[in-house]
Amino acid sequence: MQRLVVRGARVVDGTGRDPVGGRDVIVEDGRIAAIQASGAPLHADIVVDAAGATLLPGLTDAHVHLGLAGAPTKPQGEGTLVDYALLVQALIERALHEGFTTVRDAGGLDPAWARAVAAGRIRGPRILPSGSFITQTGGHGDMRAAHEAAHGFVSIPGLVANPEVVDGVDAVRRAAREQLRRGATQIKLFVSGGVVSPTDPLESIQFTVEEIAAAVQVARSWGTYVLVHAHTSPAMRNAIAAGARSIEHASMLDEETVGQIQAAGAFVVPTLLVITRLPPLGPAEMAKAALVADASRASLGLAHATGIPLGSGSDLTGAEQAGRAGEIVEKAREIGPMAALVSATRVNAELFGLADRIGTVEAGKDADLILVRGDPLERIETIAEPDGVLLVLQRGAIVRDDEGRASAGIGRSAG
Ligand SMILES: [Zn+2]
Repeated sequence: MQRLVVRGARVVDGTGRDPVGGRDVIVEDGRIAAIQASGAPLHADIVVDAAGATLLPGLTDAHVHLGLAGAPTKPQGEGTLVDYALLVQALIERALHEGFTTVRDAGGLDPAWARAVAAGRIRGPRILPSGSFITQTGGHGDMRAAHEAAHGFVSIPGLVANPEVVDGVDAVRRAAREQLRRGATQIKLFVSGGVVSPTDPLESIQFTVEEIAAAVQVARSWGTYVLVHAHTSPAMRNAIAAGARSIEHASMLDEETVGQIQAAGAFVVPTLLVITRLPPLGPAEMAKAALVADASRASLGLAHATGIPLGSGSDLTGAEQAGRAGEIVEKAREIGPMAALVSATRVNAELFGLADRIGTVEAGKDADLILVRGDPLERIETIAEPDGVLLVLQRGAIVRDDEGRASAGIGRSAG
């Protein structure tokens, strides 16, 4: 049994409780064994000096696109599939390096990548993949130009998960089952227009309630759920009526829709960071982006005031995907740093169905922990800066230690 102790930490535990200083966090076999006042005699194989830093649960991101390494109309980028594979691997590694120990891929990443990480073949966060986006003809995931007849987007199962363009209850059901067969842990549908797609108005309502409900029924039968891309309230109401559990973006929320989301016990995952990071767009897409940017903050405020659980999702795409925790910084401007951190830890864990294992610094949970310079409640920007996260523990293993804070143990090992 390996025993690691993080000594003298100031702990922001992810529950929303006030920080507590002077804690020793004891990790045994990848789990948090105990959290106790610092100073008691202890023995450990590895000691991490937490002086001047804050210990947090490993960050989580409910809306990543680790497989979308290129432009919207060329998700695999300009190079070869080898180039693509190497780039995706680098994006996965970067997410962990930045302190994200669990991420939910919101579409575009083949589940084989999640299996490669889980098997230890490549370094990365625990990944909950959605596989291919499921979209309707002319929907947000149908990236053909208006004059193009044929779909250029073909998946290569085991490597590339491009959008599935399907229409009708049977086709949606089949596409959803296919994603689960390939290893998706939840199903992603586009149910409203989007910003970066070429032909669909933002206000368009995509899929019928019956089509969405078909995917929900497939997901529930598998013990999981549906997340939907939805900007407008009519689209969100369709998704709630159909039983979707996770509403992504939710940028144009009205009071009636907020009430329905709350009554359904669903989650909202606002995505603020991506609005500041859009790729070069045409005039029509630029107009859609401006509309979304203006509405998103007001919608977040309304959802927060109502008490709907707010997940945290960055929605970053492209070849860089750096500073992912900028989502927490953006959200903190609206709801404060503590609520923003809880969103990216405990609330996401509840959304993922992993609240018994991750999301808070509590005994019994996986030792997915990060050490952040200074006090992120005083200065939340630190968490998104390249040198803000000092140390990352993934199930008790040190995967980043910029300042060499870990050292060989003291006293007798627990053996
Ligand atoms: Zn997205």
